[in-house]
Amino acid sequence: MQREIEVIAKIDNKTSTGKLIAEEIPESVRKKSALKIGGLLFLLALAAVFIPILHFVLVPGLMISSFVGAYMQYKKAEKILQAEIACPNCSSPLEVTGTPKFPLHTDCRNCMSQVTILEKK
Ligand SMILES: [Zn+2]
Repeated sequence: MQREIEVIAKIDNKTSTGKLIAEEIPESVRKKSALKIGGLLFLLALAAVFIPILHFVLVPGLMISSFVGAYMQYKKAEKILQAEIACPNCSSPLEVTGTPKFPLHTDCRNCMSQVTILEKK
């Protein structure tokens, strides 16, 4: 499933409008990558048992982050496939990747401006 998101790019008081195309990540793929991250951190926690003194901090810390990491990975329900938006400053196309969670921040490759991308309501 894909959807288009109308967005506004902003640099100070200059704006431009465009759209992002986002794709839903299937439940099965999300589960798999959540297990991968959670499992990796869990193994690190087990390995940290053998590090003297530091294991008092590392073991519980990594145990907790294995669950938090897995959960955060699982929550990534969508990813940005394509961005059709121009830099408000120089009009060159902006590259936007990752999860469509607004506000997004990106840098224009052409003029090095920091661009904030907001969802158009
Ligand atoms: Zn630019």
